[in-house]
Amino acid sequence: MALHLNDSGLIKTRAYINGEWISSRNSISVRNPCDSSLIARVAKAGCFEAQHAIDSAYQALQPWQAKAAKERASILRKWFNLIMESQEDLAKILTAEQGKVLAEARAEIAYGASYVEWFAEEAKRIYGDTIPAPSSDKRVVCIKQPVGVVACITPWNFPNAMLTRKIAPALAAGCTVVCKPASETPLSALAIAELAHRAGIPKGVINIVVGNAHEIGRVLTKSPLVRKLTFTGSTEVGKSLVADCSTTLKKTSMELGGNAPFIVFPDADLKAAISGLMASKFRNSGQTCVCTNRVLVHEKIYEEFKQKLTSTIKENLVLGHGDREGVTNGPLISQTACETVDRIVQVSLAKGAKLELGGKPSRLGVCFYPPTVLSDVTNDMPAAREEVFGPLVSLIRFTSEEQAIAIANDTDVGLAAYFYTRDIGRVWRMGEALEYGIVGINEGIISNEMAPFGGIKESGHGREGSKYGLDDYLEIKYMCMGGIDD
Ligand code: NAP
Repeated sequence: MALHLNDSGLIKTRAYINGEWISSRNSISVRNPCDSSLIARVAKAGCFEAQHAIDSAYQALQPWQAKAAKERASILRKWFNLIMESQEDLAKILTAEQGKVLAEARAEIAYGASYVEWFAEEAKRIYGDTIPAPSSDKRVVCIKQPVGVVACITPWNFPNAMLTRKIAPALAAGCTVVCKPASETPLSALAIAELAHRAGIPKGVINIVVGNAHEIGRVLTKSPLVRKLTFTGSTEVGKSLVADCSTTLKKTSMELGGNAPFIVFPDADLKAAISGLMASKFRNSGQTCVCTNRVLVHEKIYEEFKQKLTSTIKENLVLGHGDREGVTNGPLISQTACETVDRIVQVSLAKGAKLELGGKPSRLGVCFYPPTVLSDVTNDMPAAREEVFGPLVSLIRFTSEEQAIAIANDTDVGLAAYFYTRDIGRVWRMGEALEYGIVGINEGIISNEMAPFGGIKESGHGREGSKYGLDDYLEIKYMCMGGIDD
């Protein structure tokens, strides 16, 4: 499939190491999930390229961290400008390899770039501390320093933003990076590497290798030169990477899976709740880590909410190819992803859930699954226990605030939760009781570069974005000065 871009130089198909594009004998086929057509073949890296990338990042570390914060900030700002100037081309690449509709792809490019802009600004605010000393002849000072070489492993669902959310704070802090984007969606990562190159980010500061996840992962986690691993992806892989990092005691940040509850109380503004749910459930066809996974509705408004939601979905959502006018929802990432959603639907139906809408794979192609609504779901069904990663709404009935909290917290993960109410007391009680890193209150869209994004429990640790986002890339050094008294 030919991609028509204003700037064809953004299609890169080799590894980016030490400022150079490196080919390899093997390749990975990148396909459009709409129709499986071939978009490009990308050089498949392994242990050798991963080690070369680590060595290059290590070489580049000292000169990059020695630059004045203002200079790093200004280079990052140039990168931000170039990304936004190429927004349309980057969005086309993203839609082709990932499947999301063009409007969402444009929004992802702007969202991803906003982290580069934010951390360009934050680079100048890496403050230390002076601390009152325990005796008059001492002075106590803390400085913050970059952790060193950072390995970044990212998933396919936000192939641009998940990477900029890691590279931007790392570079702002003075770290250098080796990145491994998902094999399904490497072109978005390589395109922003090209723009980083043009922005004047020095060679070796950013390195990108695409390829065998196990081989590259092993080299990155075992290397003593890599001082931190930041990973976004599944909880299962995250756990095994943390275990692998233990041999060199690396710092880790883990942005893992979720199982978000969306709770609607009887006093909620139902129109706002439905609109918040539509946004939080169906963005990227349900393939985001903060997507609503379980919809808990109070019994008093359950039937009304179900009717209104089902008709809103029927009237507003159009399944199809992401680059076509009028389409609101693209394909899922793969046939396997579709089969997983279908299995969750069928097993939940067999266990007593009721089908209100959808529920059968679409005829559009093997990666398409239609918006689906199940009612009478209980928290023990797969629709409520598993992270669905597809356009399935599961409606669960509840009778009291206490019961809603108990159901919402009955999961091993804790990334995002949402609730709708107009009772200010309940806002505080619920906000404090929900065991989640992010809580949307009368709001379905919660992620932006100014706020700390991250989970608790098995959703991981560390925060991306906000003034806290730099901490994960910094070490605190305490310096004790004696002999001050005459
Ligand atoms: P995944 O299978 O864990 O893959 C994510 C990345 O890890 C890919 O680059 C993959 O490479 C790589 N990988 C897989 N096995 C590896 C190994 N043994 N060693 C090193 N790297 C390895 O996750 P996914 O299915 O792509 O993404 C969906 C998951 O990500 C969901 O659970 C979602 O909730 C989570 N997510 C979380 C956040 C957040 O911020 N909390 C954001 C977005 C997504 P290959 O592609 O080459 O296999």
